[in-house]
Amino acid sequence: MSRSPSHAVAADTLFDGRVVRQHWAVLVEGSRIQWVGPRGELPPDVPVDELPSGCWLAPGFIDVQVNGGGDVLFNDDPSPSAINRIATAHRRFGTTALLPTLITDTPEKMRMAWNAIESVPPNSGVLGIHFEGPFLSPEKPGVHDRAMIRTPAVEDYDLLASPSDRLRLVTLAPEQVRAGFITDLTKAGVRVALGHSMATYAQTRAALAEGLTGFTHLFNAMRPLASREPGPIAAALESPDVWFGMIVDGVHVDPAILRLALRGSAHPMLVTDAMPPVGGHRTAFSLFGCEAFARGQTCMREDGALAGSALAMIEAVDNCVRLLGVPLSSALSYASYEPANFLGLGHRLGRLAVGYQADMIALAPDPMQVQATWVAGHRHEAASNAKP
Ligand code: ZN
Repeated sequence: MSRSPSHAVAADTLFDGRVVRQHWAVLVEGSRIQWVGPRGELPPDVPVDELPSGCWLAPGFIDVQVNGGGDVLFNDDPSPSAINRIATAHRRFGTTALLPTLITDTPEKMRMAWNAIESVPPNSGVLGIHFEGPFLSPEKPGVHDRAMIRTPAVEDYDLLASPSDRLRLVTLAPEQVRAGFITDLTKAGVRVALGHSMATYAQTRAALAEGLTGFTHLFNAMRPLASREPGPIAAALESPDVWFGMIVDGVHVDPAILRLALRGSAHPMLVTDAMPPVGGHRTAFSLFGCEAFARGQTCMREDGALAGSALAMIEAVDNCVRLLGVPLSSALSYASYEPANFLGLGHRLGRLAVGYQADMIALAPDPMQVQATWVAGHRHEAASNAKP
């Protein structure tokens, strides 16, 4: 079998997912990283893509909560072409892998969405699906349609637990499912996150013991932190083996609260919770018959309810640095290394290391812009980061 030709990418600054290096390069063969090391140690006969002065090379972003992009809402069009359009829209902003996210909908729509995900080629950056609902608390629906919130039926379990090589993440309210349901899902390989929930601290601890490892948009749409009922937020932040999603648009959660959350033991992940305006031309869209629109990096309904975001992942990283005061390398790890580990893919995604998939971004830090992305070693130009 002939070997794919190798090529190298060299940068002033390389962040490998854990450590920042100066004047390093990666050698890519086909879809994989073959070597990482000092620029001067590259073999002389390899073509080298030299990034512009000041540019960073970093792992591609992994977004576990993407409702839409490129003017498409996944719920409206759960088809392979819509999924590709969403993935393409987000790729411009550094996202090389994502979970299209279906918010609470009918069993038929859930089946259609899952079938569509399974028919998209696995190397396209679409890792699987995130079902956000429908097993949620009617007390914390957010913009989910309360009429479609329900408890799991046998058919739901059969859909969620069917054998597949694609990832499934389910956001649910633990107090709305039977004891053992989370264990059954996790044993079938499904990742389970708490969200849209009124679970108490004790109920959350029980869910963690059953295998729950995630918290969806921590702080939003869940029982608040309180002195005598610490609820899911305290249970999350004191746990070293869980990951929580943060929407860093400056609106969903006050930056002071997120700075506090970063002092906890849990692992932060940047998510966009993106809606159709990201990478699209329209600023308004329909959500279950209600009009919603982008205002800055946030989306809301006309009644003022938050309805996801118009946030691109590179903007989330930028906000993380500016609003939360963390180093760029940490913000980048919240968008790559941490979600890779949450999804159980930390052995092949989220780092620039030998044997890892060549999912990478070229990043200009000031002003922060994605210059190019590589998905499985294939380079895509970021024509423009400007939003229409
Ligand atoms: Zn939500």
